[in-house]
Amino acid sequence: MYIPESVKKTETNKDGVVIAVGQGTDDVPMQVSPGDMVKYKKENYPTSEGCDVVTQDDILYVTGRRCVSPGCENEAMPTKKYCIGCYNSIMED
Ligand SMILES: [Zn+2]
Repeated sequence: MYIPESVKKTETNKDGVVIAVGQGTDDVPMQVSPGDMVKYKKENYPTSEGCDVVTQDDILYVTGRRCVSPGCENEAMPTKKYCIGCYNSIMED
């Protein structure tokens, strides 16, 4: 699982966005997917791309979903794939 370095840092926990996941295991199915915004424990293996590689155990909780519009970094509305700004601009087309 890869999570980009981003946004705010707390003492030990970080916010990030999942950009890739593995398949999980038979015992522990993968419960997050790319685009999930998560709070996770900072540790493990920073990569050259500026991402942190963490296991599912390091993820504390999912804080939201990122808007699916390319390049948009806003959080999506709870029941939508898009943030309010992208959603409104799509509706206007
Ligand atoms: Zn958006």
